[in-house]
Amino acid sequence: MSAAADKSKSYFPLAGNANDGWSNEDEATATCFCGAVQLKFPTQGPGLVDTFVCNCTDCRKITASMFASNFIIDDTYLTHVRGREKLSSYGQAKTIASGSLMTNYFCSTCGTLMYRVGAAFPGKSILRIGTVDDFNLHETKLKPRVEQFIEDRVSWLKGAEGVEQVQGMASL
Ligand SMILES: [Zn+2]
Ligand SMILES: [Zn+2]
Repeated sequence: MSAAADKSKSYFPLAGNANDGWSNEDEATATCFCGAVQLKFPTQGPGLVDTFVCNCTDCRKITASMFASNFIIDDTYLTHVRGREKLSSYGQAKTIASGSLMTNYFCSTCGTLMYRVGAAFPGKSILRIGTVDDFNLHETKLKPRVEQFIEDRVSWLKGAEGVEQVQGMASL
C-alpha cells in the first residue's frame, strides 16, 4: 500500500518547499507553499472549534478555485512558529455574508492564504485545511463537519460525502 493510500498514518507528501511539518496526538503544523510562514495549532477541542467547506462566491474568488476548506482555531491556541512578519493582509466587508470586515493573511512571498479573521468572529482565526502539512489530517481530524453555501457550488461538483449540507451560512 502506498503512503498516500494508507489513511491511518501521518502522511507528509512532497508539497511546497518546506519539509519540517509535523503532527502528534494533539497538535500539528500548517505551512505556506514557500515555507516562510508556519503555524502550529491544536487538532482537537477546545482549540479546534469547527471544520467546514464553503462554496460562496467570495471563497471561490479568494482561493482561485471552486470552494474553500477551512478550520477554525481559537486564537489563544494558535502559534506563529515563523514568518509572521512575512504575512501581508487584505480585508473588505462588501462581499462578506456577515457584512463585517473579513481580513485575509497571505504569505507575501508565495501568496498562500494562511488564514482569515472576521470582525463577526472575534478571537478566532479561520485556517485552510490545504495548508496542513500532515495530509492524513485532511481525511481525519480536520475532515469538514459541514458544507455551506451549497447553492453557490459549481454544477460539476457534488457535495462532500458524509458531510452535512447547508444553504447559506452554517452555524459554526
Ligand atoms: Zn510562502
Ligand atoms: Zn465562503
